[in-house]
Amino acid sequence: MRQLPYFCRGEVVKGFGRGSRQLGVPTGEPAGPFNRHRRAAGGANFSEQVVESFPSDISTGIYYGWACVGNGDVHKMVLSIGWNPFYKNTKKSVETHIIHTFKEDFYGEILSIAIIGYIRPEKNFDSLEALISAIQEDIEEAKRQLDLPEHRKLKEDNFFHPPGGKIVNNH
Ligand code: ADP
Ligand code: MG
Repeated sequence: MRQLPYFCRGEVVKGFGRGSRQLGVPTGEPAGPFNRHRRAAGGANFSEQVVESFPSDISTGIYYGWACVGNGDVHKMVLSIGWNPFYKNTKKSVETHIIHTFKEDFYGEILSIAIIGYIRPEKNFDSLEALISAIQEDIEEAKRQLDLPEHRKLKEDNFFHPPGGKIVNNH
């Protein structure tokens, strides 16, 4: 297991839960736990480029950390790294649920994250209720952890606040 924190930046793309929100129902082929029920928690999917270059020594599971969209504010987040059933579990999905209410979706924007700590392994749930309550517990655990001074200070890292520069999409 890699030493954390791990910093990562890339484009937000449509995941396989697309349309789930409009329909208000779970989608048949979810990319990750956050996609299984859009109203429980949406997870911003990183582009394939980011997922492909994601270090293999960060094991699948649920993590907490900090996230920022474009040049916006830095918020608490929970992250799911999982095997993607859409690709018969040969590819990963990396999804960030930001603990903040956004006015709009942010597809195509650059998402910057700092992965700070591990919460739990991936799990399958017997029911939607069990999944939703697990995500709520993950969110509470993330909030608690990120309030600790040693974790809080990473919010101020230069990674999120480049001295004299804006974060741009350079590909
Ligand atoms: P998709 O299947 O396209 O990834 P999701 O149902 O998983 O769709 O929702 C994720 C999308 O929702 C993100 O790409 C983003 O545009 C939007 N979104 C809005 N608020 C949030 C949030 N707090 N955290 C993560 N994504 C959010
Ligand atoms: Mg998603």
